[in-house]
Amino acid sequence: MIEDLLQRIKRASFYTLHQRSLRANQKWQDSAIQRLVFHVGQTVPFWTTIFKKEGTDMTSINTRSDLTRLPITNKETYRQHYIDHYLDNSRPIFSPWRTTSGSTGEPFTFQLGYSRLDPQYDDFARLRFLLWRNVLLSKLSRVAPARIKITPESRANGLYISMSEFRGNPTGSIKRINAFKPDILESYASILLDISNRVAKNNIRIPYAISYGEMLTSAARSHVEQVFDCEVYDRYGVEEVGVIATECARHNGMHVHCESMFVEIVDHEDGPVSNGGRGRVIVTDLLNYNMPFIRYDTGDYGRLSHETCACGLQTPRLWIEGRHGASISLYGRKIHHLEFAAAMERFSGLIRQYQIAKTNESALQIRIVPATPFNGPILTDIAHEIQLLVGEHALVEATIVSSVHALPSGKSQTLVDESIPR
Ligand SMILES: [Zn+2]
Repeated sequence: MIEDLLQRIKRASFYTLHQRSLRANQKWQDSAIQRLVFHVGQTVPFWTTIFKKEGTDMTSINTRSDLTRLPITNKETYRQHYIDHYLDNSRPIFSPWRTTSGSTGEPFTFQLGYSRLDPQYDDFARLRFLLWRNVLLSKLSRVAPARIKITPESRANGLYISMSEFRGNPTGSIKRINAFKPDILESYASILLDISNRVAKNNIRIPYAISYGEMLTSAARSHVEQVFDCEVYDRYGVEEVGVIATECARHNGMHVHCESMFVEIVDHEDGPVSNGGRGRVIVTDLLNYNMPFIRYDTGDYGRLSHETCACGLQTPRLWIEGRHGASISLYGRKIHHLEFAAAMERFSGLIRQYQIAKTNESALQIRIVPATPFNGPILTDIAHEIQLLVGEHALVEATIVSSVHALPSGKSQTLVDESIPR
């Protein structure tokens, strides 16, 4: 009985931690890091080998700042080993295997933590913005989402449509969504946009939409909000660890899920970036003891603020600014997608989506899905801005399109190299 009560108190404090002070969250993260590092130091060969090689005493890693003494990991670090090497080998694990291909297209197999299999935690991770809108935790399981995903799961209360079904029959999929009358529509930003382009305004009313997996422009957000008469919440996660941060009603950065994730921003030499600076987003999953992800490079760029949000929450806020690694080479010069994003920035209110394609060795085509009808001078301005970035020798053409081509995963790519024969 007392055991049960203690368990319930522990659970309640877990689910409400993110609404407490920054100090309380940091204290929790320090002890979670201490527990996790002690665990991997005893049970995960990948980490025991690192500790041995580097002479690190696992009992000396007790805080967030101690954690920075451990190396940063990524998909490549894991891929160099057999799967057994990075799993907890002290006990049998009954968690499903997942595979992600990521932007490189190379598959990476990993194992979920048990928390991700817990429906209550899953709802909490995906829908916590509703808690901030006074929905009770116990009521989250009654929320009915329509989710368009690559691999749809089957849970009661939801409508799950696979990306291939949606691509093959968008009209039929929209009819299913309409008949289901979801509380929330959840998918990649480009899919939300695609649906909103196919339905007439106010034809389907959905209270909320969740956008993830891609950059959401301000014009795309307001278009989706107008068509469905909904509020769009942007959220950030990676497949390996799940949801990392969620927007609040202020829509100014995403609150890090502090009870589950520790997020760091580092520079190109793996050093810390000071408050508010841009860098690589590194995450430690505090809950996955099956295949622990410690200081895992998400492959994204972002920045973090520890200032209290206007909504009152003190958990740090994260802004994602795109993936690193994506670039186009022109005349031997690599131009990063963030450079293109910066050049396109001043047009962001006018553009719903864009794609920059290298069509041959010296030519770029900028494909624009406009937010509102566009005039020629704006296209000339955009082409000019990109020309300044890439140099006068490249042929730059800006053109209006109704949609941009998506990858087989359903995601849209901002940069594509079409000069490579396939
Ligand atoms: Zn907030």
